[in-house]
Amino acid sequence: MIDEIVKNINEIKTYAKLNKVPIMQDASMDFITTTITKRNIKRVLEIGTAIGYSAIMMALADRELTVTTIEKDKERYFEAIKNVKKFGLEDRITLIFNDALETSIDGEFDLILIDAAKSKNQEFFTKFERNLALNGVVITDNINFHGFTKMNPKEIDNRNIRALVKKIKNYINFLENDVKYKTTFYEIGDGLSVSERRID
Ligand code: SAH
Ligand code: MG
Repeated sequence: MIDEIVKNINEIKTYAKLNKVPIMQDASMDFITTTITKRNIKRVLEIGTAIGYSAIMMALADRELTVTTIEKDKERYFEAIKNVKKFGLEDRITLIFNDALETSIDGEFDLILIDAAKSKNQEFFTKFERNLALNGVVITDNINFHGFTKMNPKEIDNRNIRALVKKIKNYINFLENDVKYKTTFYEIGDGLSVSERRID
């Protein structure tokens, strides 16, 4: 049983590597599953399913946890369907094939995980914060973007990357200055931010 789970997870990781699907790093995944346990998180909304890896890992962290997850790439979405079925998690993981910015979601979530287009973090945040439970948290992955956000922009030769890094920096600024949320940044994996509502 456990062997089967480990085997299936390793297969997803191998597929991700071969097909260059940017799934979450191990350290980040561990941090998130630990957060799920610590905060008793049961309802997750994920922006950016890719092939279902992080959604499956979160569902495996707690048998009562449900995930609603959105992916706009058709091939990845179909791969995610296959993977979720392999784990028999169809009843706890809801896969939505659409652009998240064009998707309205009902209900409240204890965790909103933003892991999609890095240039659109702020748009995702402002669109879905209405779905965040009072004690909920928003976690955003890839805050360091391979270390680029810590570089001097002048050292970044590629224009597209430079523009993207600027957007991520703006998002960091937005989080730091948002009076409604308290954000902590973690140097884990590719950098994570954890934003909680201020209750004072
Ligand atoms: N969370 C996944 C990895 C996601 S990779 C994991 O760790 O297993 C980021 C994904 O976000 C990509 O598959 C990309 O297609 C998707 N994406 C990017 N912009 C999106 C959008 N606007 N709406 C939905 N999905 C988006
Ligand atoms: Mg990521």
